Amino acid sequence: MYSELQQIDIDHHFTPFSDNKELADNGSRVITHAKGVYIYDENGNKLLDAMAGLWCVNLGYGRQELVDVATAQMTELPYYNLFFKTTHAPAAKLAEKITSLAPAHMNKVFFTGSGSEANDTVFRMVRRFWDLEGKPSKKTFISRENAYHGSTVVGASLGGMGYMHEQGDLPIAGVEHIDQPYYFKEGDGLTPEAFGIKAAQSLEAKILELGEENIAAFIAEPFQGAGGVIVPPTTYWPEIKRILAKYDILLVVDEVISGFGRTGEWFASQYYDLTPDLMPIAKGLSSGYLPIGGVIVGDRVATTLIEKGGDFNHGFTYSGHPVAASVALKNIELLEAEGVVERVKNDISPYLQKRWLELAEHPIVGETRGLGMVAGLELVKDKTTKERIAPECKAGGVCRDYSMANGLIMRPCGDTMIISPPLVISHAEVDELIEKAKKTLDQTAEFYNLL
Ligand SMILES: *Cc1c(COP(=O)(O)O)cnc(C)c1O
Repeated sequence: MYSELQQIDIDHHFTPFSDNKELADNGSRVITHAKGVYIYDENGNKLLDAMAGLWCVNLGYGRQELVDVATAQMTELPYYNLFFKTTHAPAAKLAEKITSLAPAHMNKVFFTGSGSEANDTVFRMVRRFWDLEGKPSKKTFISRENAYHGSTVVGASLGGMGYMHEQGDLPIAGVEHIDQPYYFKEGDGLTPEAFGIKAAQSLEAKILELGEENIAAFIAEPFQGAGGVIVPPTTYWPEIKRILAKYDILLVVDEVISGFGRTGEWFASQYYDLTPDLMPIAKGLSSGYLPIGGVIVGDRVATTLIEKGGDFNHGFTYSGHPVAASVALKNIELLEAEGVVERVKNDISPYLQKRWLELAEHPIVGETRGLGMVAGLELVKDKTTKERIAPECKAGGVCRDYSMANGLIMRPCGDTMIISPPLVISHAEVDELIEKAKKTLDQTAEFYNLL
């Protein structure tokens, strides 16, 4: 009944973000290989990966150039650490390349193995910064409900996911959460513009409540990813900027999903005209081919940490791992050489968004939204009342299962279906994605007798 691999997996593998007991009933899908925007499973199914893995395979699967550079680096220097006054070419050159693409005031990169470790690094850097500035009371981070910043203790604490907090007494002390700019769910009666201002002003209310002298930083994703591709109203970021300018609080823009071209700019901070003090990165940095993350550090924080800080007692065994760093560097060089980011902006993102908008016509879709190469839609029973189809957001899971059966990977976040395809997806593949999504919506509606 199970394949050999499924059985081994059930017996020995404790899998992340899954109900391991339920998995034992059904077995996991075994992925065998991948090419372009498609992945293949051991039953011979071909699936259009409209999530680019976990938002990361920006260049698509099967790029031999990345394999070759990894092989060469493995041969030359497979590993050496960066602690205690050493470095190597892959880390130094990658840092140079990243900062050449980042906003002009950001000129240093601290490397980590993942996005979660990047946010742990942010946490330590920011607190160290304020200590060195002689303001040790500035310790508290303000984040947002339904944010995602990773799964380590700090990452999950900074995140705003209740289902993560309840497992392990999180968040830790020193993290506070404010409203998210989720218009579809929480906009009741307001215009999107008015709601954007209102959601942003919960930041100012929290600052006044806790006292500016106690607040270290505000951290946010430019658009929320794992929360359900929540794109803030146009008024939101300008109002956040206005508030932050009034108080001396650092801005951390979590670019783990949005970095490396997903918005049609290298970073979403450029898309939204933000001036972050710190930008955690990972995912698209290496197109997911090897694990690597980092924090891009703005001049203000870097100068204090370097000029006044002495040793910074933080780092990871695999910080700037030479093989991962050389693959990341080649990944960025390919994005540049092939004009991938410009193509997102001028060609494939407008096309994807235009076609995704067609899904808004469907009887069980309450809203579609998106920017760059991310998009989401809300499953509803009634377009006007926004009543959900089934209790506990069960319709999202049903929709996902139909989507998989149709050869399309869409991800449910509750009753929001989301996509974040490889940036290199072709027009014909976007057409296939939309056709399969339409069929999936029809089947979901039929399942609930809503057609
Ligand atoms: C995925 C993600 C992270 C965590 O990255 P990992 O590499 O899984 O640790 C952090 N922030 C955002 C916005 C993410 O989407």
